[in-house]
Amino acid sequence: MSRWPGNAEMERTTFGGLSRGQLMSRIHSTGNQTTEKRLVVLLRRAGLSGWRRHRPLLGRPDFVWPKAKVVVFVDGCFWHGHDCGKNVSPKTNVEAWREKIRRNKERDRRVDRLLRQQGWQIVRIWECELAKKPDSCIDRIRKALGTRG
Ligand SMILES: [Zn+2]
Repeated sequence: MSRWPGNAEMERTTFGGLSRGQLMSRIHSTGNQTTEKRLVVLLRRAGLSGWRRHRPLLGRPDFVWPKAKVVVFVDGCFWHGHDCGKNVSPKTNVEAWREKIRRNKERDRRVDRLLRQQGWQIVRIWECELAKKPDSCIDRIRKALGTRG
């Protein structure tokens, strides 16, 4: 995780109307344990089992179904550049942030391509989607698992 790209005098800077604290909480929500735990609860409730965590796979997916060859990523909206309003446009260091997010998105695409080549099905869930439409997240996972019987 990269560090705050500034110095002391930026303490009071706001990013896209967010305070530093609000922005930091969004930044750190990538790979956030709270988000992952929320999905664990949803999976259990939906009766979906067989998943593993912390598998040493490319891109470090959050959930892996080794037998069904399905991986699930829960992507933080800020770092992965989701156009949902949580992906704020910083007013300072704009280029640096944009570049960082652009590289993350590129890496996501590369990871998806390579995993697919290895026969994995990929489900990417946005952090905001998990919060607002948990049922549709579960549906997508269920469909991916279902196609492998
Ligand atoms: Zn989002």
